[in-house]
Amino acid sequence: MKKIKAPKFKVLVLVGAGHANIQVLKKLTMKNYEGLQIITINNGYTSLYSGMTPGLIENYYVLEDASINLAKLCKNAGSVFINDEVIKLDEKKNIIYLKNHPPIKYNLLSLNIGCQSKINDLEISKEAEIIKVKPISNLVNKINSIEKLILKEKVISCSIIGGGIGGIEIALALQSRYQNSIKLNLFADQNNIEKNINSRTYKKLIALLSYKNINFVNSRIKNIKESHVEDEEGKKFPTRISIISTGAMSLPWIINSGLSLDESGFINVNSFLQSESHKNIFATGDIASLNYQIRAKSGVMAVRQGEKLKENLFRFLLNKDPIHFKPQSSWLCLIGTGGKNALLNWGQFTIHGKLIWQLKELIDRKFVEKFSFENPMNNLKDIIKLPLSDKIINQINLKMRCEGCGSKLSKGDLSDYLHNTNSLNAEVLSDAATIHITSNKFTQSIDHIKYFAEMNPYNFGRIAYLHSQNDILSAGSEVNSFSVSLGLPYNENEAQKYFLEYFMQGINSESEIDKSIFASGHTYTSEEPGITINMNGIKILDTFKNQAVEGDLIYLTKPLGIGFLMAAFNHNSINLTARVYEKIINNMLISNKSAFAIAKKYNAKPLTDISGFGLGSHLIDICKSSNLSASLKLNREIVIDGCLEDLKLYKSSAYEDNKNNAISEIEILDDNNKEIHNISKILFDPQTSGPLLISLNQDLKQKFEIEFEKIYDFKPILIGYFQKKEKFSISIS
Ligand SMILES: Cc1cc2nc3c(=O)[nH]c(=O)nc-3n(C[C@H](O)[C@H](O)[C@H](O)COP(=O)(O)OP(=O)(O)OC[C@H]3O[C@@H](n4cnc5c(N)ncnc54)[C@H](O)[C@@H]3O)c2cc1C
Repeated sequence: MKKIKAPKFKVLVLVGAGHANIQVLKKLTMKNYEGLQIITINNGYTSLYSGMTPGLIENYYVLEDASINLAKLCKNAGSVFINDEVIKLDEKKNIIYLKNHPPIKYNLLSLNIGCQSKINDLEISKEAEIIKVKPISNLVNKINSIEKLILKEKVISCSIIGGGIGGIEIALALQSRYQNSIKLNLFADQNNIEKNINSRTYKKLIALLSYKNINFVNSRIKNIKESHVEDEEGKKFPTRISIISTGAMSLPWIINSGLSLDESGFINVNSFLQSESHKNIFATGDIASLNYQIRAKSGVMAVRQGEKLKENLFRFLLNKDPIHFKPQSSWLCLIGTGGKNALLNWGQFTIHGKLIWQLKELIDRKFVEKFSFENPMNNLKDIIKLPLSDKIINQINLKMRCEGCGSKLSKGDLSDYLHNTNSLNAEVLSDAATIHITSNKFTQSIDHIKYFAEMNPYNFGRIAYLHSQNDILSAGSEVNSFSVSLGLPYNENEAQKYFLEYFMQGINSESEIDKSIFASGHTYTSEEPGITINMNGIKILDTFKNQAVEGDLIYLTKPLGIGFLMAAFNHNSINLTARVYEKIINNMLISNKSAFAIAKKYNAKPLTDISGFGLGSHLIDICKSSNLSASLKLNREIVIDGCLEDLKLYKSSAYEDNKNNAISEIEILDDNNKEIHNISKILFDPQTSGPLLISLNQDLKQKFEIEFEKIYDFKPILIGYFQKKEKFSISIS
């Protein structure tokens, strides 16, 4: 009898990839808690390391130096990563609500979401240009507006409101970057100096500000207007932009939750970092209030808490006693002072200079490097089994006996889901659906894609739909209806429901845009999850592969590269940054529906979609059936984000087959041109939810491109034209 691995039956959700939760993820790159589904939610694909923020503002570091690539970390940790913002918590029902995704039911929740800048003592006019330093991601995203203003106006005045260590570091970093192009006023209420900072350090910082011509003003700002800020005594200071660094404020969805909070709205936690009111919720970093020992909110504190959090979350799941977090009363503080200098504060010691910067850089880089991966993980993780309930043991035994229809999802789970989501099709649980059609030309297609492990399953549902939609569009049709077969991971309880809901809601979100009918569905559990969609369309355009015309231009509706880039991602390629990963996902999520409509308008032909066989094979089919050849001019534009480095190094498993099937029909005109040889590999790269290949009469080039760009915000990719039949179907220059 085949031994069945225990299903995932508990859901751990990490909200916010702050300094503590990333350590939980790091631990999960080495340990596998069998039975546990992990989901990480963060609004953004990177987690910024606060210690390197001043260096980033100064332009000494680039984003990749100072941040952690969450998609990669989660992939290696075995966690699904969702790029979204949590907006509500129902701690009674154990549900979190997200801005752009369906809600998620958790068994255990870890909140490490930082805080926001305190603005409730300030009056800010609508016209005023401001940057809030918290969350830090906001500061980093918006700091470029200073660059833009300086480019436009040459010299600007800037106010930094709040003279804590953060405000001082920002002032020194900005001065070091922009020198005489920025006039800085730093406003401080001197009663608010952090307790960990000794008086010599503080004096040294004030002297440095003065030496660097940063105007240090000891007053409280009340109003921020478009062209000036005003203090409590009515004194005005000119400003073009204001940076608010006035301390921490809790987040509205935490304040509105039923969690036990301190008087400022931060989550009361005990010494295990566990919510005082809800034992299955842990909170760390700025959002947590250690009401048993007050400490300043800092990245250092969040990192230290992470060391205990990564133990206590799993101790909770394994029913073991948690361990205490004992905050230090003082800690080493390294403050960037600009121009590769830093200041060390440790107890009563203060040292300043380049050596301290080197020490700081070493420590900071080492921290971030802990979370980066340059080679594939060996998958040899320690396995720790979560204790199984009787119900789960029964489920495992049942599935051992029956892997046929017993591998189906229970009818109850399916009905619950359909009931909760108001599925358009009431017939979905019947054996077949009746569809009324108005046309006698009906297109049918079936497609299956395997789940990319750890991908956001909602996005995967959307991608599966769009991948199938491509077949219908390239057959000159509009989607009418579809049936779905979902291969779900072998999970139980909340973990099972999560995949069902996320796959289906992703599919539904695209089907709603198409107004297509969800005709019927089937589910099964599998060790190789995936989605099969059988899609039907109504034919509205007569497009066939033999319709290419000599002289017509050849366009792709989006760049290629999913195959080799996903291979690079799985191999932890160093070039595959968070920004590139975001582009890959967004590329797969682009629907070709509007491109099809524009093509129809300009009498262009969507001749095929580029799928698993790659561009080469699809184009050869068109050339052969139209008795023509294609002349291609390739450049880096054809590849997602122009990632030519990884194209040299990585290929998908389907690459060799695709190449073998097409290579004899392809000629590279300049055989010595290494760059063209490299780019032409893209012809064999398999695509998931790839572009349409459209042929267009040359006279309509401009109109077609303008209209396309208006809708998609990027130009269609012109790759060549059809020419008289030659020896090779495709020639590349
Ligand atoms: C300029 C500057 C320099 C600093 N330098 C230092 C320093 O050198 N040393 C030090 O100890 N401290 C420093 N600090 C303080 C430090 O930034 C914070 O105390 C620290 O970042 C808090 O860490 P955290 O883990 O609580 O949250 P954060 O680091 O803020 O991380 C929270 C994460 O949660 C995400 N998130 C927030 N809300 C949601 C939501 N609703 N849904 C999903 N995701 C969400 C955010 O995108 C973010 O990724 C500095 C602060 C500033 C402004």
